[in-house]
Amino acid sequence: MRAVRGATGALAELAKLIPPTAHLIKGKEIVEVGTETLKKGDRILVRPGEKIPIDGKVIEGESSINESMVTGESRPVSKKAGESVIGGTINNDGSLTVEVTKTGEETAISQIMELIRQAQESKPPVQKLADRAAGWLTYTALSVGIITFFYWFFLNPQGTFPAIFAGTLAISVIVIACPHALGLAIPTVTTITTTLAAKNGILIRNMKAAEIARKLNYVVFDKTGTLTEGRFGVTKVVKLNKIAEDAILSLASAVETQSQHSIAQGIVQSAKDKKLKIPNVRNFKSFPGKGAKGIVSGNEILVGNEVFLTEQGLNIKEFEQRINEVSADQTYIWVAQDKKAIGIIILEDVIRIESSKVIKALADMGIKSAMLTGDNEQIAKTVAKKLGVNVYFAQVLPEDKVNKIKELQDKGNIVAMVGDGVNDAASLTQAHVGIAIGAGTDVAVESAEIVLVKNDPLDVVKAIKLSQKTNTKMKQNLAWAAGYNVLAIPIAAGLLYPYGILLRPEWAALLMAASSVIVVANALLLKKEELIV
Ligand code: ADP
Ligand code: MG
Repeated sequence: MRAVRGATGALAELAKLIPPTAHLIKGKEIVEVGTETLKKGDRILVRPGEKIPIDGKVIEGESSINESMVTGESRPVSKKAGESVIGGTINNDGSLTVEVTKTGEETAISQIMELIRQAQESKPPVQKLADRAAGWLTYTALSVGIITFFYWFFLNPQGTFPAIFAGTLAISVIVIACPHALGLAIPTVTTITTTLAAKNGILIRNMKAAEIARKLNYVVFDKTGTLTEGRFGVTKVVKLNKIAEDAILSLASAVETQSQHSIAQGIVQSAKDKKLKIPNVRNFKSFPGKGAKGIVSGNEILVGNEVFLTEQGLNIKEFEQRINEVSADQTYIWVAQDKKAIGIIILEDVIRIESSKVIKALADMGIKSAMLTGDNEQIAKTVAKKLGVNVYFAQVLPEDKVNKIKELQDKGNIVAMVGDGVNDAASLTQAHVGIAIGAGTDVAVESAEIVLVKNDPLDVVKAIKLSQKTNTKMKQNLAWAAGYNVLAIPIAAGLLYPYGILLRPEWAALLMAASSVIVVANALLLKKEELIV
């Protein structure tokens, strides 16, 4: 009972993060209201040192916020107007006016709670095996019980009251074989696994995936946002004709304000940093894995890679040697105005420090890794080499990412895909185990079976290790719960009576209870396990 309650306790712990009341700003007044009464669009005040009651957007003020309880990131993050904050996190030094953007089940905390609940309810495939075994054990116990009675009553009666002797043995058999331990063998491990995982920043949405994870022999990583930070900085703008560098950047950022892509965010940020004017855009359209376009001040502006520009009918052959200015670890995108290329924006992303450790740790476990990216060949090669990834696929469109995963699966590999973006969603679903980096898009998280809250790719290794440990525990429990009956039933049936050994029903009851206690105790040992990479 304590083991199970301990696991659901993790949910209660999360619920406790949410403060019960909030300071609602009503005109000039500030009133104290219950957090659950807040509506979208309400403005609340969060003073320094207070918990942020609900998900929202900062309207006024600046502060650093401790988000470790949700993201696992221990460094405080600074927030200013326009940025979003998460309910349950702690506001450190500044006073903030926050506009409520999400309520009830939409909030981050509620969603994490829902994920944990789903995982605990989802049954791993071995559970079905255990359930079936428990069924068979019941039939076996009943039939052996009946046979025992018949044998000792009709064929080999003992003592003055053969009916009592035969009845006692029959009862021992049925009591000792009660499949209680089998029923507990798997669920106790499941609850402890999901809790242990959650404590390590790994949300398991589906126990089936957690069970397969131990058999993985191929892990495919998306590059941008997964192996790299996905935070692009513009290092240079190359002009291709009269239009000046700043103008190119400002036209491109006009289009990119509408895009979710990390390259887009990098471009917009650098335009803002340079205090450039960002014009409005009309008819924005995004082309996942390729680029985006829109109408800015009456001109059609395209932003994207070669594939995109060529597809849109542009000829960029004449500018190709300009790409020499791009070093091998940088990425670049083209900007075109009215079907003419006007500039190249060169951007740089940082490889996550944990990334090469992951690849090495996986290799040590005998697991191969591959990198999949929509980015160009040259940078893909550089990053792959830096990280020691043996296989990489560059300039892969979102729909082809799925095919790459399928190809690997067709060769008999058990494949995991780790990704963060909208463009990874389909391949996350296709892989045997889809793993989403938590800071990624909601689509990615929805398509994945495992979510890494801390955005640390090393947690992939942790998840696999946890899966292995979980599986060992489940097997031990099953072996014990089923195996003990093989010994106990014949003894209870009186097989050793000729040697003077008999099992009284009360002893049978004690043994039966003991076997359940052993199974639960064994599962509880899992709590003590450390997941070290
Ligand atoms: P990854 O697989 O590495 O996450 P994507 O598939 O999202 O990359 O994108 C592949 C390429 O498409 C990018 O490297 C970039 O050249 C281009 N691209 C995609 N979206 C945009 C955009 N909004 N603006 C500019 N270029 C883009
Ligand atoms: Mg990505």
